[in-house]
Amino acid sequence: MRRRGGSTARAIRPADYPPPFRSSEAIADFTDPADERIEVGVVIVGAGPAGLACAIRLGQLLEERPDVAEQLGEVPIAIVDKGKAPGSHLLSGAVMNPRSLRRLFGDRLGIEDVPNYGYVHGESVYFMTKKRAIPIPPPPVMKNHGNVVVSVSQLGRFLAEQAEEAGAMILPETAADRLIVTGEAVRGIRTGDKGRGREGQELGNFEPGNDIEARVTVLSEGTQGYLTGSAIDRFGLAGPYPQQWELGVKEVWKVAKPLDGIVHTMGWPLRPQAKYREFGGSWLYPMGEDMISLGFVIGLDYRDVELSAHDLLQELKTHPKIRRILEGGERLAWGAKTIPSGGYLALPTRLYAPGLVICGDGAGLVNIPRLKGIHYAIESGRLAAEAIVASFDRGQGPRTALASYDAAVRSGFIGNDLREVRNIRQVFSRGMVVGGALSGAMIASKGKFPPRDVPTHADAEQSLLRTGRAASYPAPDGKLTFDKLSSVFASGNRTRDDQPNHIRIEETVPRDVAELWVRLCPAQVYEIGADRGDGTVEVLMAPSNCVQCGAITAKGGRLTPPEGGSGPEYQLT
Ligand SMILES: Cc1cc2nc3c(=O)[nH]c(=O)nc-3n(C[C@H](O)[C@H](O)[C@H](O)COP(=O)(O)OP(=O)(O)OC[C@H]3O[C@@H](n4cnc5c(N)ncnc54)[C@H](O)[C@@H]3O)c2cc1C
Ligand code: SF4
Repeated sequence: MRRRGGSTARAIRPADYPPPFRSSEAIADFTDPADERIEVGVVIVGAGPAGLACAIRLGQLLEERPDVAEQLGEVPIAIVDKGKAPGSHLLSGAVMNPRSLRRLFGDRLGIEDVPNYGYVHGESVYFMTKKRAIPIPPPPVMKNHGNVVVSVSQLGRFLAEQAEEAGAMILPETAADRLIVTGEAVRGIRTGDKGRGREGQELGNFEPGNDIEARVTVLSEGTQGYLTGSAIDRFGLAGPYPQQWELGVKEVWKVAKPLDGIVHTMGWPLRPQAKYREFGGSWLYPMGEDMISLGFVIGLDYRDVELSAHDLLQELKTHPKIRRILEGGERLAWGAKTIPSGGYLALPTRLYAPGLVICGDGAGLVNIPRLKGIHYAIESGRLAAEAIVASFDRGQGPRTALASYDAAVRSGFIGNDLREVRNIRQVFSRGMVVGGALSGAMIASKGKFPPRDVPTHADAEQSLLRTGRAASYPAPDGKLTFDKLSSVFASGNRTRDDQPNHIRIEETVPRDVAELWVRLCPAQVYEIGADRGDGTVEVLMAPSNCVQCGAITAKGGRLTPPEGGSGPEYQLT
């Protein structure tokens, strides 16, 4: 069997080494007796754009409807988030379509009141080779006229203030660990314990989790939602085709010269041949006069065990064009996160269950060809709030009446946009050239071509290959290029080392699977341990490095929520 350079396909797939995890672990009945439960009207899991928009709209509607507010009790709206503070776990490009914020705030606030770095005033797209950057006309899906540059972490902090003003109670450092289901209805969530040691033992500062009982539970957990995935299994909501993900790594740079307009690149350092399944590219967005958001996204259906999103971004920065932009600058921040990319065909069959709605990235509401999800998250949160209040209005109660949310998402601009681009991402698995040509026809026909849908495939089901790819990653110099541990430091991660391990993987696997995980993880959580002598090796873990990007769940493991308050502390991402 050829190993180096020969790229011989090997029939090893990460999906054949599933993690020790059952989604039923995340579903339970009440734990606390009735008089010890925290009672709220609506509990929202996740203070991202989706959850916060939902809270803000609920607050606006309850002001107009004191009768519904009364039914929701003393704490009508509560939001839990596992990050240290609102915004701590939010990371995006980000060029945002402002239409949803306009709909959310109406004449209460304008875009100029929201933290942003201005409207996009010029854009370029380059096809990269190792030495050259060839300008190409921006394809229609990459046009961003009318959109604004934001840091979603800053946007999250701002929206959290607005949600509090609208009457929501925000509980940061609080992971939702279980979905409370009794009979066939969702009744709230249970928060995670704090203060356990590595073996799960109670430490001096131990605090048990709590049951939060709610009339309605909104899951807005973002990518790889832990309770969301479990709810999809529990209520049989899985869509016709499997979800897929991309991994994005991002750096924020202080630069000497302002960047004039936004830049996207495709091509190098990815390889165009179909056998590698390498789909992705980079962005550079100006954040005012002296900062730049720079990132690289790669589809997680790739096959090469040595591919590393972290190191592809480092390699990209050595290109003469990018090096020139960053010259004299300094890296301020780093982070990583996955993006759902299955699109319309991977949406759950229903975005609700009795007492439950699912919003934003957790539902997969992302337009990958446009790299846009923020405005869908905000709009879905707003629509969820409308449906929740309407359900009380009709006197039906939230157990049965949340279907109007699903209908509003599918028949509004979210559903229409996603339907139009539903086959584009998949055709890039046939290589950049074929993918580019087919996607052009799909865009021109507004989604009418091809007549039959192109299925998605689970990322972990791709067989692995090995080509010696890692040899070309640049050595870190600490100025332009960095190693993974210094990147973790730049994410603000200060997780204590003695927490219980929140990552589930099969710990003895073929060497190729182990190496895939080592390279995949942008935060250096995995290391190859002892060779068992039978083709398998042990995988060692440093879970406190984890920035909760979610990539391991796409490629054969399972991320579960760690203790609330741990993980990255993003400020600028
Ligand atoms: C690299 C990258 C680049 C992108 N670029 C763009 C772009 O340029 N433009 C654009 O429009 N979109 C972009 N997107 C997509 C966009 O960021 C998302 O669509 C959007 O942030 C989704 O919002 P959300 O509220 O659904 O989820 P998120 O923003 O992910 O927020 C979810 C929140 O829930 C919390 N949470 C999750 N699980 C739990 C739990 N169990 N308990 C408690 N809290 C929990 C998380 O801590 C987080 O704060 C990009 C995404 C990435 C990763
Ligand atoms: S261990 Fe954490 S940081 Fe590493 S791939 Fe998994 S989720 Fe991402």
